[in-house]
Amino acid sequence: MNDILVDVRNLSITIDTFRGPLRVIRNQDIMLRKGEILGVVGESGCGKSVMVNSLMGLLPEGRTKIKSEKFEIDGENCQEYVEEDWNELRGTTVAMVFQDPMTALNPILTIGEQIYEVIHRSNAYGDDYDEKAIALDLLKKMGLSTPEKRLTQYPHELSGGMRQRVCIAMAVAGRPKILICDEPTTALDTTTEAQILRLMQTLAVEAGIGIIFISHNLRVIAQLCDRVMVMYAGKCVESATVEDLFNDPRHPYTIGLLMSLPQGKWHGELTAIDGQPPDLYDLPRGCAFNPRCKWAMRICGKRIPMVSNIGNNHEYTCWLAKLEGL
Ligand code: SF4
Repeated sequence: MNDILVDVRNLSITIDTFRGPLRVIRNQDIMLRKGEILGVVGESGCGKSVMVNSLMGLLPEGRTKIKSEKFEIDGENCQEYVEEDWNELRGTTVAMVFQDPMTALNPILTIGEQIYEVIHRSNAYGDDYDEKAIALDLLKKMGLSTPEKRLTQYPHELSGGMRQRVCIAMAVAGRPKILICDEPTTALDTTTEAQILRLMQTLAVEAGIGIIFISHNLRVIAQLCDRVMVMYAGKCVESATVEDLFNDPRHPYTIGLLMSLPQGKWHGELTAIDGQPPDLYDLPRGCAFNPRCKWAMRICGKRIPMVSNIGNNHEYTCWLAKLEGL
């Protein structure tokens, strides 16, 4: 049985801006399987959100050029998709949970009205269904107290954590196969964050939903994900299972991120990564990380490194791999 939900190969995304064309994603592969939680991590501006927005057709129309060798979502080739096709896919095959639940919800509709709308649009429940019973069940699963009352309330009457749980309930109301979460816990306190993360794990394990979870927080990624992609300047520089990435990081940028964590195996004296992420309009020659890299060699400023695979699908893009004979 084919359990691949996202299969994208050699993806490049260029957006026309007032400063000229900006290549935001460079030759990137994305793979997501049923029931898998894929973490995407990296500094702001590294292309995480643009990459996942492309999986929902949410990039600015007319200003975006997307090239790929393969772009399949749930077995469907989406390379030629137009807005109408994306509209059918959104909410049914792929759904999204955004960072700020307040702006994601409509302030003038009750929680119930907003969930019912997703249920109707999805066509996932056949002709005969009880929208209220479905919505109540979803809110209960999200751990919301007094769900009957919540259905009649407006977003401003709920706390931030409750609103985010409503957003997740809305996202899964259409029974999507893929859930994209763009930093959904950033605005939440630690206790609520832990509840949301447990919820995500339940959705992946019990409903078999494939989840792409964007975060700049490695601690959250470690707790939640099965596999991780570390992004830098529009490209994944290292990908591995969570265990391999945290126990045996290979790319200097990944090592830098882990050394800037206040706890964990890599905890010593806290060190920040020197410098700033590069200007995507003017990327350094060779390896994009070379101006910030402690291990940079002459070749790093001249040629882009190849991808090396060290087994168990642990891949990284660095000239150091050649020194190790990989
Ligand atoms: Fe550092 Fe060179 Fe590896 Fe880039 S290729 S991360 S500059 S060692």
